[in-house]
Amino acid sequence: MMYKRCLIILTLATMMFSCKKDQMQSDIPTTSDTSAVDALESEMAATRSDEENETDFESDARTPRVCVDRLTDSDPIILDERDDVNERAVLRKGTKWANGKTLKVFFMNGSSYLRNKVITYARRWANHANLHFVVTNNKAESDIRVGFKINRDRGSWSYLGKDADRYRKGKQTMNFGWFNRKTEESELRRTIIHEFGHAIGLAHEHLSPVSTINWDKPKVYDYYMGPPNNWTRKQVDDNVLNRYKPRDVRNTKYDPLSIMHYPVDPALTTDGQAVGENTTLSDKDKNFIKRIYPN
Ligand SMILES: [Zn+2]
Repeated sequence: MMYKRCLIILTLATMMFSCKKDQMQSDIPTTSDTSAVDALESEMAATRSDEENETDFESDARTPRVCVDRLTDSDPIILDERDDVNERAVLRKGTKWANGKTLKVFFMNGSSYLRNKVITYARRWANHANLHFVVTNNKAESDIRVGFKINRDRGSWSYLGKDADRYRKGKQTMNFGWFNRKTEESELRRTIIHEFGHAIGLAHEHLSPVSTINWDKPKVYDYYMGPPNNWTRKQVDDNVLNRYKPRDVRNTKYDPLSIMHYPVDPALTTDGQAVGENTTLSDKDKNFIKRIYPN
């Protein structure tokens, strides 16, 4: 009898979760707040996340640590912002938040240790941009919704700036997929600042229209399409090879020290150019964001 009851409860829980999961995959904004389902989803995700954190120490050492762009195909390109030839880094047009905005961050799961790290390093941007980050427990009023390994997602990613509001109302907008209790401070810092760079509208620096990387394309495909990444050819094109068109972004001088740059293995370039793992804001990152969100 007890077994049967557990089974029914489990089945119900699975149905609720599946239903919610389907909703999350849709890009249609929803306004109804199904808080019971949200609570269950958060709890289940948190449980899974904790379980994985217990067992992932070794395997994570070889996990690829580059984030995957979350660009919306239907992004409207807004051309009313003037390009400035002195600006650095890459801002995707139409993703900029209102200057001076306080961005409310909601955590879908995760330990207080990781939540504190996230908000602490997110604020590195606020030292230079006229933006503010606060934590909220009210999902409905949040601007950025952060999860850790939600749906077992081992990737780290974020939607770009206002896309979170435009296309992801009530849904997760950022994921951290490779943190655990042994993750080094520099790795936490690097990944969190990078994802929050996306969250305030910045795109990948190596995809800048003026990036100078001479990729050895066959090697790049081999590398990223093979294990452990196993990306599709299109994912490699979108995330590594295809630079943005100048009309889609604000950019100019290329900054290989940007926190928004992937590490580049010299074996994947035709001229041996290398970019290391950038673990903190570059001077150009700071200057650029200051001009985008001026005080
Ligand atoms: Zn990224």
